[in-house]
Amino acid sequence: GDALAVSARVAPLGSRLVLLLVEDLTEARRIEAVRRDFVANVSHELKTPVGALSLLSEAVMDASDDPEAVERFAGRMQIEATRLTSLVQELIDLSRVQNDDPLEDAEPVRVDELVAEAMDRCRHAAGTKQITMAAGGTADVSIWGNRGQLAAALGNLVENAVNYSPARTRVGIAARRVSAPGGDLIEIAVTDQGIGISDKDKERIFERFYRVDPARSRATGGTGLGLAIVKHVAASHGGEVTVWSSEGQGSTFTLRLPEAGAARDRAQQHPDLD
Ligand code: ADP
Repeated sequence: GDALAVSARVAPLGSRLVLLLVEDLTEARRIEAVRRDFVANVSHELKTPVGALSLLSEAVMDASDDPEAVERFAGRMQIEATRLTSLVQELIDLSRVQNDDPLEDAEPVRVDELVAEAMDRCRHAAGTKQITMAAGGTADVSIWGNRGQLAAALGNLVENAVNYSPARTRVGIAARRVSAPGGDLIEIAVTDQGIGISDKDKERIFERFYRVDPARSRATGGTGLGLAIVKHVAASHGGEVTVWSSEGQGSTFTLRLPEAGAARDRAQQHPDLD
């Protein structure tokens, strides 16, 4: 067997009983359970690459007279280190979008710039799989929001579209302005011809660390946090993200966000809300 296979170890959970003398015990318990699950998930996700690194470094020491083995183990150490780095980065991004009010430094953000940035981020992965990326309708539309957060959200959707698609397929990004009672919205749809998502999984993919196929997600460098970040960004901008998917056919993730002009007009009509 592979001595280096790193088994999934569940973080030991202290069975802490929280006694709360409040009326709404059920809700408090639910919130506490979500928090505890999150902490357990984070420690489990961190332990996996750290455990692998520790085993691999031992293997390197044992194989010091075999340069080829040393190189092989070092290569795997690099992969685990990269995984650890992206996990920590995504945790920082998630905590930022959960804690910072994006509208504090909101500005008009051009959709063509967001799309170009998202496509650049995926250019390498798309190239190796010969996936074509195409965008339409992005000229002359702007969103009212936080540039960094919007870029992270769209980047995650395009990255997923590429990661969960087979070779030689197409990823399309289409933007359009739609009118809504509260003012115009910008709709950005990211469509792939990938593996798709079942109805059961559709309800859960926006949860932190939920993955349909953990092995596949890990293989592409996924952390299970991307869609949780997208959902937070959409909601805190007063928008939403929805998914349509057909298993084996592909998926479309649609972001709806406030249009820059409409949001500014609204702020001028109600200066006290500015
Ligand atoms: P990950 O880092 O695993 O990609 P995400 O939060 O971005 O985490 O996505 C959660 C899960 O949703 C993924 O692991 C995958 O199973 C599923 N998923 C996300 N985007 C797509 C897509 N475009 N096509 C198929 N499945 C997807």
